[in-house]
Amino acid sequence: MAIREMRYISDPVLRKKAKRVPVISNAIQQLVSDMIETLQQEQGVGLAAPQVGVSLRIVVIIMPEEEPLVIINPKMVKRTGEREVTEGCLSIPGYVGEIKRSVSVTVKGEDRQGKAIRIKAAGLLAEALEHELDHLNGILYIDYIENQDKLHKVEPKASDEGASDTSEQV
Ligand SMILES: [Zn+2]
Repeated sequence: MAIREMRYISDPVLRKKAKRVPVISNAIQQLVSDMIETLQQEQGVGLAAPQVGVSLRIVVIIMPEEEPLVIINPKMVKRTGEREVTEGCLSIPGYVGEIKRSVSVTVKGEDRQGKAIRIKAAGLLAEALEHELDHLNGILYIDYIENQDKLHKVEPKASDEGASDTSEQV
């Protein structure tokens, strides 16, 4: 496994619509392993392949104290409710924003063995799924910010205080 180089907000790859993964090849397995390692290194909750410069429909989510969740070719099948969250993004360091997300979502896709999976989620996992699936369509959370008052500068995550206390970097 290897740490991949993170891509940040001005990188055009973050604005491209990612392509479907046609076959889960060895190269895809390697990419998935690298994404897990990169996400662990960044101490984030979720990572989408475009964030490491690969325009393919793959997301990895690591909920606290849980095994990594890998979804290949994910598709949003249902969203219910609406709630306000404070959200950050590993590709937009130093900021968090207040936006609206769904209360619960249902996502289907494939795991890294190619087996069909269906995930019904609420709370942080639902937020992470919406955030990561948006990345695959070239959408960033800041696109939902209604006005400047809802975007806040925060200390880098390494400090004692800041984003890590109030929000998760997804
Ligand atoms: Zn993000």
